[in-house]
Amino acid sequence: MINLILLGLPGAGKGTASERIVDKYHIAHISTGDMFREAMANETPVGLEAKSYIDKGNLVPDEVTAKLVEERLQQPDTEKGFILDGFPRTTVQAELLEGITKRLNKPLTNVIAIDVDEDVLIKRLSARYMCKNCGATYNKISNPTKVEGTCDRCGGHEFYQREDDKPEVVKNRLEVNEKMNTPLRDFYEKKGILATVDGEQKPEEVFAAIDKILSKD
Ligand SMILES: [Zn+2]
Repeated sequence: MINLILLGLPGAGKGTASERIVDKYHIAHISTGDMFREAMANETPVGLEAKSYIDKGNLVPDEVTAKLVEERLQQPDTEKGFILDGFPRTTVQAELLEGITKRLNKPLTNVIAIDVDEDVLIKRLSARYMCKNCGATYNKISNPTKVEGTCDRCGGHEFYQREDDKPEVVKNRLEVNEKMNTPLRDFYEKKGILATVDGEQKPEEVFAAIDKILSKD
C-alpha cells in the first residue's frame, strides 16, 4: 500500500511525477479541486455545504474539506493506496488528515518533497510566452517556436508575456507558496516520513528517484 503526499512548489514537477506514479502503482489520484467539483455537481451533503461557502465568495473551512477527503478515502479505488493532491496545504490540515488516516486505518506511508531551487523555478515558470497576433502559447524551455522569433501557427514575429507569467509575479507566487510549504515539510520531517528528491533533474530521473523510495516499502 502506498499512501502518499508530494510536496513541492509550483513548477517543481508534482503533476508529471503524480501521473507516472499512478501509471505504475495504480493508486488513486485524489485532487482536492476535482473532489470539490464532483461533490458539488452530485449535490452530496458535503458538496452542498462547500458550495454555500464558495457561492458567497468565502474560503471553504478546513473541516468541510476534511470531511470531503474522509469520504473520498473510503472509496474502493483507494485500496492499493492514494496520492493526495492539494491537501494538506497547512499544518492544521495536516493534523486533520492525521485524524482521518487514523480513523480509516490508512496511515500515510510516504511524504516526498520535490526540491527545486527558487531561481530555477522562476526560470521554468516565466518561460511561457504568446504570439501577439494569434495567441499561440510557447515555452522557452519546453516548447519554443520551431524558428526563433517566428510563430509556428501564423508566422507572426511579435510576442508577449501574460502578467501572471512575468518573473516578478512568479517570484511573488513562489514566496507565498514557500511560506505554506516549509511548515508542512517540518511537520512531516518531525514525523520521520519525509524524503526529498532533487527536482532539477530530468522528469524521468525525478521519477526514478521517487520510484526507488516507494519500492523500498
Ligand atoms: Zn501566431
